[in-house]
Amino acid sequence: MKIICIGRNYIDHAKELNNPVPSRPLIFMKPPSALLLEGKPFYYPEHSKDIHYELEVVLKICKNGRHVQPEFASGYYEQIGLGLDMTARDIQSELKAKGHPWEIAKGFDHSAVMSDFYDKSDFDMNGILFHLSKNGETVQQGNTKDLIFSFDYLIQYVSKYFKLQMGDLIFTGTPAGVGPIKIGDHLEGYLEEKKILNCRIK
Ligand code: MG
Repeated sequence: MKIICIGRNYIDHAKELNNPVPSRPLIFMKPPSALLLEGKPFYYPEHSKDIHYELEVVLKICKNGRHVQPEFASGYYEQIGLGLDMTARDIQSELKAKGHPWEIAKGFDHSAVMSDFYDKSDFDMNGILFHLSKNGETVQQGNTKDLIFSFDYLIQYVSKYFKLQMGDLIFTGTPAGVGPIKIGDHLEGYLEEKKILNCRIK
């Protein structure tokens, strides 16, 4: 199982971090050991002083495929969920400045906080509202209709380079509003009005 992540897939988020809007998807990965399942606490890691949350809609791949053609792309995910792409922003900034890979800023243990999954047929796939609250206050909200690269395009694009395998996850990018966490914070993620992600920072 692999965790494929898309960076800068909402214009407002690319701008908030002073990044250019990409002309093709920006891809990175987290190892399977990054996964933290729904309801489990996130322990603030010692290697960073500036961990940020990034709330993202996540696709769960339901069959194997490579070079998926556009007309078949939607058949490769039946379920969606919400994930937090936890990011050591201080380390990421250093690595970015040097042009180095991102793994220790993005792929450290438990950096992929994951909700349970729900059938996509329960949602309007043309535009799913989602939001994150921190200690009861909304800090991020997005609508998947604002994605630069759609879910189906991502399936097509990613599968040109990496064989998709059943159980793989694709984090589809975060909207604006990313920010820091501290010990004691409570993060809650909502898909439409349904609260599906719960994570306490310890
Ligand atoms: Mg992200």
